[in-house]
Amino acid sequence: MQVAPTTEELLEIHGRIRACVACRLHVTRTQAVPGYGPVEARIMAVGEAPGEKEDRQGRPFVGAAGTLLTELVESIGLTRRDIYITNTVRCRPPGNRDPQPDEVEACSHFLDETIALLRPDVILILGRHALQRLLPESAGITRFHGQRVVRDDRVYVPLYHPAAALYNGSLRETLFADMQRVRGYLDEAEAVRGPRVRPEHAVSQREHDQLSLFAL
Ligand code: SF4
Repeated sequence: MQVAPTTEELLEIHGRIRACVACRLHVTRTQAVPGYGPVEARIMAVGEAPGEKEDRQGRPFVGAAGTLLTELVESIGLTRRDIYITNTVRCRPPGNRDPQPDEVEACSHFLDETIALLRPDVILILGRHALQRLLPESAGITRFHGQRVVRDDRVYVPLYHPAAALYNGSLRETLFADMQRVRGYLDEAEAVRGPRVRPEHAVSQREHDQLSLFAL
């Protein structure tokens, strides 16, 4: 049995992200998009960068790609409330261009801190930018999708980015097939580690939402 970190610890990281001016993306953002999900999440998804809707709403994966991500999560018996979702960079690149290497580098420590705090069993790597950041030595999504890489006692699974599968039926089928493998990886991790419990002083998800809004 593992004890989950507290929501306050997660919100402390979120607060620093919202105030961050470490790269040029802070100039053009409406707001930073730190991430969203419960502290006891055993599964985490890391995408590329916030898009226009995410920049406006302050939450990751709220557009069409977010809807597909929800379907993927639900296809393995979970809900969006079971997964912590974030991005490689936390501020929207203007015009949805690719994040630049120095921007990814400037934002890196936030992702490292979040992973270290949440200690997820499985990390879904959504698309090539997240793959370059988390497994830079890997062969690429096309060859590598759905396979697991164990690093620091944690399972990483590269997947096609949901946005790439929106208008590509074959990629969509591949994504759903890969998610079934993720279900197996999660079950294996849970069998080894046991259930995760919330600390007694942790606040609820509803309180988390309120605190997140308040922190905006
Ligand atoms: Fe800071 Fe990351 Fe936003 Fe750049 S992208 S300003 S490093 S939070």
